[in-house]
Amino acid sequence: MENIKIVDNMVLKNALTKLRDKNLKSSQVRKQIEIIAKILLIEALKNENPIYTEVETPIAKGTFETLEEDKYVIVPILRAGLPMLNGCLEVLPEAKAGFLAIKRDEETLKSTLFYERFPDLNGKTVIIVDPMVATGSSLEYAISVIKKHFPEKIISLNIVASPEGIRNVSKFKDVLFYIGQIDKGLNDKGYIIPGIGDAGDRAFNT
Ligand code: URA
Repeated sequence: MENIKIVDNMVLKNALTKLRDKNLKSSQVRKQIEIIAKILLIEALKNENPIYTEVETPIAKGTFETLEEDKYVIVPILRAGLPMLNGCLEVLPEAKAGFLAIKRDEETLKSTLFYERFPDLNGKTVIIVDPMVATGSSLEYAISVIKKHFPEKIISLNIVASPEGIRNVSKFKDVLFYIGQIDKGLNDKGYIIPGIGDAGDRAFNT
């Protein structure tokens, strides 16, 4: 599964271990999610092609590498993707954002779309941010919706995944997945074991 990259970074592991602690306050849950999103994003974009810009430093003029920031569209899957969006926009402040709300039926674990709002995705690099890949069905759904808008490239940043979730999404060979850690599996309610619990509830104190 060449399109699945587990990001081996000790700073990420440190933040993820804090995030797993059920006693972490909501504000800190959001903070750790933001930190992990930044690390995943930095890893995902580390070999991007630069564009060259002339800059005058206080000492001299020079030509330096930059990223075409507004070529990137960050798409959080609501709600739990929102703190990841914040982290990504701190790293790429001129990136655009699109939004996808997908609801998971707690009984059938099937996903349905109830809100979609994107800027023009044609030719852009879309970065989907969703902390948990449990069954993978929300992410599969999100990728299918986004593909209809013809982006040039799709990247997915995810904090924790289950082996079954990874199996389901890895069929999208043209999508690159950057994952924090892969956990043991799913419980009968579709939560990742040991995971972090309900990421949306924990991030927003609900
Ligand atoms: N969604 C979550 O927020 N947590 C899980 O463990 C699975 C899906």
